[in-house]
Amino acid sequence: MNGNDDSNLGPGTRVTIAGRRSEWTGTPAHPGAVVSPPVWRASTHLYPDMAALRAHPANEDGNFYYGRRGSPTQWALADALTRLEPGAAGTVLYPSGVAAIAGALLTVLRPGDVLLMIDNAYEPSRGMGRGLLHDFGVETRWFDPTDPDAFRAAICPRTRAVLLENPGSLTMELADVPQLAQIAREHGVISVIDNTWAGPLGFAALRHGVDITVMSLTKHVGGHSDAMMGSASAGADWYRKLRLRAQGLGIVVSPDDAALMLRGLRTMDIRLQRTSATALALAQWLAAQPEIAHVLCPMLPGAPGHDLWRRDFTGGCGLFSFVFKGGTSAARDAAVDALHHFGIGYSWGGFESLATPVDPAPMRSATPWPPAAWDQADRFGVRLAIGLEDAADLIADLARALAVWRKAGASQA
Ligand SMILES: *Cc1c(COP(=O)(O)O)cnc(C)c1O
Repeated sequence: MNGNDDSNLGPGTRVTIAGRRSEWTGTPAHPGAVVSPPVWRASTHLYPDMAALRAHPANEDGNFYYGRRGSPTQWALADALTRLEPGAAGTVLYPSGVAAIAGALLTVLRPGDVLLMIDNAYEPSRGMGRGLLHDFGVETRWFDPTDPDAFRAAICPRTRAVLLENPGSLTMELADVPQLAQIAREHGVISVIDNTWAGPLGFAALRHGVDITVMSLTKHVGGHSDAMMGSASAGADWYRKLRLRAQGLGIVVSPDDAALMLRGLRTMDIRLQRTSATALALAQWLAAQPEIAHVLCPMLPGAPGHDLWRRDFTGGCGLFSFVFKGGTSAARDAAVDALHHFGIGYSWGGFESLATPVDPAPMRSATPWPPAAWDQADRFGVRLAIGLEDAADLIADLARALAVWRKAGASQA
């Protein structure tokens, strides 16, 4: 592929030009004839003659062979994501983010290995440790996201890999990923990160020392809540292994979905700027409300992880959580039900705002939730995924929800 020679350009420019190679957006007579790579729907690829079939090139990117190895639409998306990820030699596409996590872990792990998983990982990743990986003879152990010494101490001779996520799902603690990646490397442990929250524009995972970076493209890249996909990007060695394992698993994504992802990608930078700014405004507003005990948003000055966020990140996104002061689960349900502009649903990264309850207590292994330092009555959380609506309308919505919360709390008392 062409390498990352545009990494000195700004993010808006990079998402505009990524993956638009002239041979994928035109014909031999008219290279680059259209703006976006067209949808190549193809299972069968044809050879002009027997000599061409027999001379078929080795298993490399960018060659027509058979539908499972993709066609220019999928190649363009993979190439675009590679170019957005400094240090990446290639990107493998998967039908979902969960498939990308599984594809990466099944590439690096062998029976008998131990996987260390950050304790605030996405619940389906945790479930993979208990289920799929367990069934294939891999043992998963969890560690405190904010304690690099605990991570170092958890490494044993059987530890093959670590799965990071930064910030963690729901609870949003930031880890010191450069330090964790460095410790992993010193011990010969392969580091994999779920970088869905920041994506490559907000956190250059490979440049910070991680071996393999995984994303759910369903979120920021798609951006319109109408398609699912995942990706794993890495340097040359791990990319080659990821690709072979994905081929072994028969992984392929549809060209129609790849075209939707490419369309979403073009506006990703401007959407992330907008949703980050709105999320920060909402987080600031929430932090000033007497009903709120904690705002879990690393972009918010003074919030947990903010110093690491400033040090390591070049951008954020619209996803954060908050925790009510005291109260009841029923009062929280009433508050969420009172929101007009937030859908209730388990996703994020779309143009529309969403709210979901946050109850991570049963999803922790190494660290308690709520944290020991908190008032233990403060436990009813909500995760907000901020879309492209106007901040004032969303703040008015939250004010309405807090009024309902107060009433629901009072009627309980
Ligand atoms: C949504 C999500 C995933 C899974 O992505 P899908 O495309 O829905 O499979 C993985 N990690 C994180 C952090 C997510 O939020």
